[in-house]
Amino acid sequence: MNTTLRPKPHNIEFEITTACNYGCFHCYCNAGKKSVVELTTEEIKSVIDQLIEAEAELLDIVGGEPLLREDILEILSYGRSRGLKMLMNTNASLATKELVKNLKEVVPDLLVGVSLDGPTPEVHEFVRGKGTFEKTMNGINNFLNAGFDVTLLFVVNRENYKYIDDMLILSEKLGANLYVDRFVPVGRGKIFKDRLLPTREMVEYVAEKLKAYKGNVELYIEENILGEECTAGRTHASILVDGNVVPCGHFRYNPEFYMGNVRNERFKVIWEKYNNQILLPNVCAKCSLRNVSCKSGCLAYAYLNESKVDDIHCKLL
Ligand code: SF4
Ligand code: SF4
Repeated sequence: MNTTLRPKPHNIEFEITTACNYGCFHCYCNAGKKSVVELTTEEIKSVIDQLIEAEAELLDIVGGEPLLREDILEILSYGRSRGLKMLMNTNASLATKELVKNLKEVVPDLLVGVSLDGPTPEVHEFVRGKGTFEKTMNGINNFLNAGFDVTLLFVVNRENYKYIDDMLILSEKLGANLYVDRFVPVGRGKIFKDRLLPTREMVEYVAEKLKAYKGNVELYIEENILGEECTAGRTHASILVDGNVVPCGHFRYNPEFYMGNVRNERFKVIWEKYNNQILLPNVCAKCSLRNVSCKSGCLAYAYLNESKVDDIHCKLL
């Protein structure tokens, strides 16, 4: 492969911990306990240096729950000082006024993504557990009151898809942006697949609502909702808690798709040598509709599916 043709890494997710104070049904990394192979502060800083070398643009700090790491301020501040646009995904339950104030002093332009799986306690808590809605809403308000740019992170599932309008209304009322993703049955999510997996009609319902939306909320829509080209390994990658790099976090349990490990190779080298074409399902590679009326949907979901295509977007089904 001619490595000079590789696009730069645009959006890199970095899973700095698998420790989490929640036990959500849909969690793709089965978060809960801190991993024994978690990267140290110095290793994380070295990876940030490697991302600068690879000319990455946006670093999305994810978990688990990133706020459980004692060095979270140091990590965010280091990434910012090296010139990366910093984003952090959190369940916001630990975002007290005091913590948010400290974050504002250290990383004032941090973009904050807060997982909210429904506009009411009943819908949100179906996946996240009793009592989590109020804690998360308190955290969101603390971030917003401190002047942070907040995006609500909504993962479409079988139960919450019909509340997409309410999520838009809530985002507007709060003054937050809205990111919409789709449940992919990986990790703990695999166990709860039957309760969570949305049908094609459900995803289409959400996609139509989002396409027709004309309000003030800034939308970020994951390509797996609209059927746009998958970014896995093309402009996006995830660095897992043990340093392994995967084209998308949803490939975390498939070592055959691993790109390398930042503990023993520079991220730039890992990125430049990767051929993301290996992710394309065989049936799509031979399909005449590919790049005509179809972009193959979510490649991770296709891989997990018995049919080996993304049956939510496949035009042949
Ligand atoms: S129509 Fe189906 S087989 Fe063809 S590219 Fe799309 S997902 Fe793949
Ligand atoms: S594999 Fe699916 S979730 Fe991952 S980047 Fe591609 S479309 Fe998005």
